Amino acid sequence: IESKMPNLATTIFTTIGQLAHKHNAINLSQGYPDFGVDPALIELVSNVMAEGFNQYAPMQGVFSLRETISEKIEHSYGRYYDPQSEITLTAGATQAIFTAISAFVERGDEVIVVQPAYDCYEPAIELYGGKVVPLALMGEDFRFDFEGLKKVLSPKTRMLVINTPHNPSGSILTREDMQKLEQLLQDTNVILLSDEVYEHIVFDGNVHESAANYDGLANRSIICSSFGKTFHVTGWKIGYCAAPKELMAEFQKVHQYNVFSVNHPVQRALNTYLKNPQRYEELGAFYQQKRDYFLRAIASSRFTFTPSAGTYFQLLDYSAITDEPDTVFAERLIKEFKIASIPVSVFYRNGSDHRHLRFCFAKTQETLDKGAEIILKI
Ligand code: PMP
Ligand code: GLN
Repeated sequence: IESKMPNLATTIFTTIGQLAHKHNAINLSQGYPDFGVDPALIELVSNVMAEGFNQYAPMQGVFSLRETISEKIEHSYGRYYDPQSEITLTAGATQAIFTAISAFVERGDEVIVVQPAYDCYEPAIELYGGKVVPLALMGEDFRFDFEGLKKVLSPKTRMLVINTPHNPSGSILTREDMQKLEQLLQDTNVILLSDEVYEHIVFDGNVHESAANYDGLANRSIICSSFGKTFHVTGWKIGYCAAPKELMAEFQKVHQYNVFSVNHPVQRALNTYLKNPQRYEELGAFYQQKRDYFLRAIASSRFTFTPSAGTYFQLLDYSAITDEPDTVFAERLIKEFKIASIPVSVFYRNGSDHRHLRFCFAKTQETLDKGAEIILKI
């Protein structure tokens, strides 16, 4: 058959994951924790299943969970989202992102995507006939380019996709950044798709700046979050999005025919689990300890780095080691050194000559030790 998507290859996470498996490499590539889930959460899910909550959830998600999420957002960012009409449970953030793009992007629309970009935005935009307009982060610390944004904003801009804390760079948007963004968008109709899946993984005393915090952003934003990241359950594929009523109504028009509703018992369990804010408020400290452990262990390696400010990823600069492109170097590290990472150029639309690999530190001390031991030999 003639492919509708001739330019789409298999996602990097599958390609590298398979290669890592084949070569029996330590896998610090795909982002997921290799440690267990809180037994209390598992017990909640199994209890709920035993109680019989095994049939369809409501289309928007279990109402009590939407109420709890609304309280959580208000508690964290000071904005009230109506659980009746402004919150939807989704099959991970991936489905929220895909559904949001399909609900709003029409043929010929321009969508500005901050680069490097997590890999699920652009295929969805193009599938719906949108034109991706890349906007690169700047410098070694991956700062937002506001002058660049001014240049690419046009009457055709339908949507801007941002991601803070940012995968893969580990950079975060500051209060000042969000205020500038608010100002630049104020006279436009641009919808902001704000990917905040790492909202609770922020380090060094910084706070997560959610679009929910800013009137002029919240009123145009679809904010996506993921319980996979927050509660170490990436395999459960459960998340949510929040948006003002008018945007959410359009989102749900697609959602209802896309999945209708998502995992019911898991939603019931999460409702109970989420009521204790400690369970997400301590996540930053938890991962900061892992980041610091990993960075201490590789301090004398030939890689250089700026410590990640958020997410569970750390970029390592290898320009002191080799001139090889990152895809070539990443593959060689898997085959020769038995360690897997993600080459950062794949997150750029037109490639990049950055000399960075992305390593995931959401791992046990034992895995980090093994990884560091190899990194010191490279
Ligand atoms: N956005 C970003 C930036 C991510 O890193 C991920 C996780 N891979 C997602 C979205 C998707 O989240 P989920 O696993 O909940 O679908
Ligand atoms: N979000 C994770 C990452 O960036 C995994 C994504 C995936 O496997 N699709 O590594």
